[in-house]
Amino acid sequence: MAENKPAVWVFCEQANDEPLKIGLELLAKGRTLADQLDTELVAVILGKDLRAAAPCLIKGGADRVLAVQHPDLAEYAAEPYADVLVQLAKERQPVVWLFGATFVGRDLAPVVAVGLETGLSADCTELTIGADGLLHQIVPAFRGMATIICPAARPQMATVRPGVFQALPPDETRQGEVEWLTAEPVKARLQTIGRQRYADQGAPLEEAERVVAGGAGIDGQEGWDLLNQLAQALGAAVGATRPPLDDGFVAEGQMIGQSGKTVRPKLYIGIGISGEMQHLVGIQDAELVIAINKDPKAAIFPAADYGIVGDYKQIVPLLLEQLQMERQV
Ligand SMILES: Cc1cc2nc3c(=O)[nH]c(=O)nc-3n(C[C@H](O)[C@H](O)[C@H](O)COP(=O)(O)OP(=O)(O)OC[C@H]3O[C@@H](n4cnc5c(N)ncnc54)[C@H](O)[C@@H]3O)c2cc1C
Repeated sequence: MAENKPAVWVFCEQANDEPLKIGLELLAKGRTLADQLDTELVAVILGKDLRAAAPCLIKGGADRVLAVQHPDLAEYAAEPYADVLVQLAKERQPVVWLFGATFVGRDLAPVVAVGLETGLSADCTELTIGADGLLHQIVPAFRGMATIICPAARPQMATVRPGVFQALPPDETRQGEVEWLTAEPVKARLQTIGRQRYADQGAPLEEAERVVAGGAGIDGQEGWDLLNQLAQALGAAVGATRPPLDDGFVAEGQMIGQSGKTVRPKLYIGIGISGEMQHLVGIQDAELVIAINKDPKAAIFPAADYGIVGDYKQIVPLLLEQLQMERQV
């Protein structure tokens, strides 16, 4: 690994001095990219006290951690965070910089990109180093996948949603260097005055082992009640396509796909879903895909391991009956 080559950077979010999973997921992908480019993988983390968080990033795949500590960086705020990050990048000139497409990353990465006068690809579903040595940033678009490159400006910046990449198992023996840095961030005009958590809605969709998802084919509350029954019988989380979200049958956090969540369950059952690319990108890592659709030509069937052609109103009750019988045996 060449230390003087421009490095691959990953911005790692933290809460209460604990690194968030998204940073570790990005470090796993960053590790591959840095190895391909024969350069260092650098984790960048900001906070008030990072003594516990920083070493975890080495165990998660980083060669070096830039840990910037200041009381004003305890809570995320776009201005001081972007100020510090832009200064740091101007000094050290990374070649690639990855951010999570989280609430923080979506807010912060564009401000940093503007500060560095470079480009930014949002919601990438794959990142590779092409034969041209550039970062190929793959996003679902135009009913397929588009590859975006940033030919001249640096760093090449991209955001990736949680769950798209898998974190490496922590390697306790990994060696790396933590640089403890101080900063004088600008004062934030917006201050966090309190936090309120959403009510607990059970296991997050992106971590569920089983997912039952409904689409526009589920034509009313009765249909959704049936789908919820199936999900309950299977111990599955409920997901959806965009139309049920627009129609108010599901909450924002339940949409799967390009603008929603990426899931990687052992079992995914898609009911009344046509299989548009914008939905399929969110289930590409599901282990077993079962599709139920009354249209035998639906695009979801070629993407499924098992397909059931028929009306869900007949099929789901049969599945529930079968599950009930198996439970009684
Ligand atoms: C920029 C952009 C981002 C987007 N992001 C997302 C995203 O993140 N996630 C997402 O899901 N969509 C997204 N969309 C929308 C996406 O393009 C599709 O419109 C959407 O996925 C279609 O949802 P659907 O399959 O439920 O509906 P439809 O395409 O209308 O399909 C309904 C299906 O139900 C079947 N059906 C009807 N009745 C029954 C029945 N009784 N029994 C069995 N099957 C039945 C039909 O045969 C049909 O195949 C996005 C679109 C854009 C432009």
